[in-house]
Order: sequence, then structure tokens, then C-alpha cells
Amino acid sequence: MFDILDDTIVAVSSPPGHGPRGIVRLSGPDAIAIAAALFDDENPTPLAERRGSRRFHGELRIEGDASIPGELYLFRGPRSYTRQDLVEFHTISSPPALGMLVERAIESGARTAEPGEFTARAFFSGAMNLNEAESVAALIRARSDAQLRGAHRLQTQAPTQQAQRWMRQLAELLALVEADIDFAEEPIEFITPADLRGRLMALRDELHTLIRDADSRERFEILPTVLLIGPGNAGKSSLMNVLSGTERAICSAVEGTTRDILTAPLSLPGMDCLLADGAGLTHTDDELIQLAQARTRETAARVDLLCLVTDISSVPEDQALEALRHDRGQPVVIAGNKVDLVDRSTGAVRLARLRAEDFGPVVATSALTGEGITDLKSAIQAQLADKWGGAEQHTVLLGARQHGAVSSALAALERAAMETRDLGATIDRADVIAFELREALDVLGIICGQVTTEDLLGQIFADFCVGK
Ligand code: GDP
Repeated sequence: MFDILDDTIVAVSSPPGHGPRGIVRLSGPDAIAIAAALFDDENPTPLAERRGSRRFHGELRIEGDASIPGELYLFRGPRSYTRQDLVEFHTISSPPALGMLVERAIESGARTAEPGEFTARAFFSGAMNLNEAESVAALIRARSDAQLRGAHRLQTQAPTQQAQRWMRQLAELLALVEADIDFAEEPIEFITPADLRGRLMALRDELHTLIRDADSRERFEILPTVLLIGPGNAGKSSLMNVLSGTERAICSAVEGTTRDILTAPLSLPGMDCLLADGAGLTHTDDELIQLAQARTRETAARVDLLCLVTDISSVPEDQALEALRHDRGQPVVIAGNKVDLVDRSTGAVRLARLRAEDFGPVVATSALTGEGITDLKSAIQAQLADKWGGAEQHTVLLGARQHGAVSSALAALERAAMETRDLGATIDRADVIAFELREALDVLGIICGQVTTEDLLGQIFADFCVGK
């Protein structure tokens, strides 16, 4: 589906919505000619005759005589992202204006790009391998620093290098086993059964460790979520801002629950997570608020950790703990907030009462003075660590494709290892072992981008958004 490279594609390439600037991208043999029809500047040399990769300031024709100021970036192939002639218009971020520019480009002969088609062109023209293309997809989707770091790790090819090392070892082992088969009649031993078994097991263990520790793509994209719950006015929003270091105004809204659940990324020393701030759970007759509270309760059932926030200067403990009295099964952390408003001994008594119920660790905090915030982060991290581990920090992240390949290679190695279990002085079933080693070699080749099928490519590029 992406292997038609000789037409010219166009798409808005900046993120949807109003951002700092809007970008429309064209790639293909007619990109420059089409761009010339949409662009005016003072330069007397026609665009097609301007050499090299450069930027020009001018007017972009969006409709009839109407135009908007903008920049044209000219990248001549092969020195461009797609290795084809590529033009980008950078202008104000107005979705209607960008849409009109795209329409004008289509009228002049361009075709709307499919999601991921620019990157697919880069792949097909040899500008990037499959792992790099996948990591572009991951970068586009990354929503937090941790994900960006993971995507970058995919891009720096750690899995590829590791797979290449394994492939070398497998190829060597395979050569020795095959030599044993070819020279079965000769009194030469290329590899002893014990050595073969030892090397197979060592490889198997390495693959096994990677699979165990590595994140699947799913894991990579979904961060653990911590929901702040509790009575209204306890300081949930204030804590959310202090913990995440963001202002509520720029916290993003979870899809479909715009009214009531806000989220912001929270960086902890060993991991990142999402903080969600739900509606206060104080009793109310307001139907809209009741609706929002129901949403919060639903969300509470799905998150990984509940952080109960209570105002220890005014709210009685049993009332505050009410929100936790549904058996949800998630770990809980309690923030006894507004500790700055109570004297030390009263605070200690109230915290002790919260602790006595044994829902989870209790931390005294003040969103106002910052007291206890570090301890609260540590408590959240400790509670999440059990379930999520700190794996992201030290392991190679695997995409779904890579995960599948390592699993298949591991299965083939397990089968080969089984064949060596009862070996005596000679390798009896060398042909079967050779077969399994070849199988492992083949699937590991997928990681290095050496084996590609139409299906596989479709899957990868389908994850992209239009314009990338
Ligand atoms: P929410 O309804 O639970 O989200 O509570 P808010 O974060 O909106 O806070 C309610 C009020 O309590 C606001 O006026 C905050 O400034 C104040 N507040 C929040 N945390 C603290 C704190 O730790 N100490 C003091 N003194 N005031 C706080």
C-alpha cells in the first residue's frame, strides 16, 4: 500500500489543534512545482531553479487572491526526510488555513498522504530502517519524558545491536553443528555435546532475561495511573500542581471525561506515572457534580493506585476514609494535607487515627509550604514499584514486533536445548538442532529489519498519524 513512491503526497504535519505554528508538508517528484503554485515571494528566480535546501519567506496562497504570510522550506532529494523533493510550509497554526493550503496542493496535483506515509517513504528509500521508523511512531505518540526516553532508546538501536550479537553467536553454533552433520563419517569433532548444550543454554538465558525485563509496546505506552480522591477542598488540585510541577490550566483532559478528570505526568525517581485529579467526593445534591463523582468512582476502579487526600485541619478521619470503604483492591496512599494549619500534637493524633485503619502509608503534607511532598512521592513510588517495577529505567524497550521475534527465537532455542538434554558422547539429532537454530536466526533477523513482509509494514505504519 505504501510502495507507490512516484506521486506527490501532501498533509498537515503539525499536531492537530492550535499550536505555535502550522506545517503543511509535500513530498514527491512534483513537490516543488506544486509548492511554487501556492507560494509568492520577492525572489525573481523561479522556485524550481533555486538550488540546495533553503528557507524562503513569502505569502502562501490559500484561496483566490487571499494569502497568509509564511515560510517555505525547500529540501531537495536525496537530502530530505523522505529522500525525495520535500517542501514544508510553516505558517500560523490555523486549522482552516492549513486545510485550505492542503486543498490547493491537491488541486495542483498532490494526493492526500496516508498516516505514516512520509515515514514509509523514508523507509522505502533506505533513509531509515524498520526500527527507526517504529521509533518515529513511538516519538509521535510519546506523552511523557519516560516514553520519549524509551522511544529514543529504540532509535539508538539497542535491540538491533543485541540481536546482531545473538545472530553471530547462533550462526557460529549453526556452522559447527552443520559441520558435524557434513563430516559425520570423519573422526573430527567440531563441537562437543557438552559445549553445544552449554552455549545453547547461555543464549536461551539471555533471551529469557530480555523478555522478562523488557516492556512490551503496550506497557511502554500506558503509564501507571494514580488517582487523587477525597472530599472537596482537601487540596487535591493544589497537590496535583505541586507534585507534577504543572499548572492545572495546562494539565490535559482524559478523553471523554473532559469535565471532571484531569491528568498530568508525574516524574518519580525510578519511574513516571500519570496523576489524575477527580471530582471531590463530598455529598451533594447537585446532579452535575453527582455525575462527575460517579465518573471519579468509575475511574477509581481502573487506576493503579488511589491517593486519598484529606484536610487534617478540619475533616474528621472517619468521614475522610469513607471514600476508601469500597473494596477495590488497589494499593492506597493517604496524604494528610494542610498540616501547616494544625499544631504539631493535634496533627500527630489525627495522622495516628488515619494510620490505625491500615489502608496504606499516611504522609503529612502541605501543598502550600511543600512539606511532605518528597515523602508523598516516595510513598507513591514504593506502592507502584511492586506492580510496575523499575524496569523501564534499565531495560531495553521492545516494540511489539521485536517482542514477538525474541519470543519465537526463545521458543526455538528451548526446543533445540531439549534435543541436547540426553546427549551422550555424540550429537545424535544434529539435523533437528540445526533446524531450530536456523529458525531462531530467521526470526531474530526481523529485529534488525532484515525480514519484512507486507503485513508487518502495514501494521507498523498504520500506527502513525497523517503528516508523519
Ligand atoms: P480540591 O477541591 O481538593 O481540589 O482542593 P483545592 O486544591 O482546590 O484546595 C482548596 C483550598 O485549600 C484552596 O484554597 C487551597 O489554596 C487550599 N489549600 C490546599 N492545600 C493546602 C495546604 O496544604 N495548606 C493550606 N493552608 N491550604 C491549602
